[in-house]
Amino acid sequence: MSHEFPHARPRRLRFASGLRRMTEETQLGPADFIYPLFVRPGEGIRKPIPSMPGQYQLSIDELTDEARKAADLGIPAVILFGIPEKKDACGSDNFNMDGIVPTAIRAVKETCPDLVVISDMCFCEYTDHGHCGVINTRGEEHYNPAVPEGYLLNDPTLELLGKASVIHAKAGADVIAPSGMLDGMVRKIRAALDEEHLDHVSIMSYAAKYSSGFYGPFREAAESAPGFGDRSQYQMDPANKREALKEIGMDVDEGADILMVKPAMPYLDVISSARERFNHPIAAYQVSGEFAMIHAAAANGWLDLERCALESLRGIKRAGADMILTYFAPDAVKWIGG
Ligand SMILES: [Zn+2]
Repeated sequence: MSHEFPHARPRRLRFASGLRRMTEETQLGPADFIYPLFVRPGEGIRKPIPSMPGQYQLSIDELTDEARKAADLGIPAVILFGIPEKKDACGSDNFNMDGIVPTAIRAVKETCPDLVVISDMCFCEYTDHGHCGVINTRGEEHYNPAVPEGYLLNDPTLELLGKASVIHAKAGADVIAPSGMLDGMVRKIRAALDEEHLDHVSIMSYAAKYSSGFYGPFREAAESAPGFGDRSQYQMDPANKREALKEIGMDVDEGADILMVKPAMPYLDVISSARERFNHPIAAYQVSGEFAMIHAAAANGWLDLERCALESLRGIKRAGADMILTYFAPDAVKWIGG
């Protein structure tokens, strides 16, 4: 079979718009998207997030409105991030049944019972130091003199993750999404859920989460910037791909149901390799910085917002993502429908 010019002319199939539609390999639809939402205490609050146009910190009444709009657009799932009233050293709002996220989960499930509610499971939004768990501190309960002060203590944090996951699941979360890149987090959460007969609740693991500069706007949105140091002792080095596949494989063994790569656009090769190697659904998180830079360039008249947003989402899907967490979700549904 020869592919030689002049017999082979690939342009033939690009000649008419109908032919282009017929040969399109990747289509976007509402079911591809998971919409991230930020919830805070109060009432009637829609506090704009300046670096993320169109995104807000929402009080629960406003959150349920947004959730209903997303459901009406055919978006199957939201993922919730909480900004608690009070932060403390161990992030106790996260395992309080009346904490901001458990309360939000109940409200969303009441408003939209069929909307899948995914609960981000980490401590950085709830701790006063902004790290993803228990910090090694002299004089505190879990102090370990063998490791430096300020080190994120893995196993004591796992206990808290298990406890908080049960609370979120009992509040009605369909999926728990541990995002802290702690060793053994999926196994611990699975065990904690099963022990409470919550074996119907899925785990979407942030399996390969990189220590990325593209998280900047999110930290403003979730008020979760670390008070000291950074997260490179638990999140992955952007240089590493084999390590990502190792991490993903470990989460498969630990019982993850869905595997996530985060961020998306700088890591399309990781998404693609994960898709080839594993049979689990692959999720990709198009993070705040990816969203913000397209918006910023569009605001300057340098890029076409709709075209570039959809192109970025198509690229992520083409790389192998089965689902995309994206702040563009509602706009993207409107754009592809219109
Ligand atoms: Zn975290």
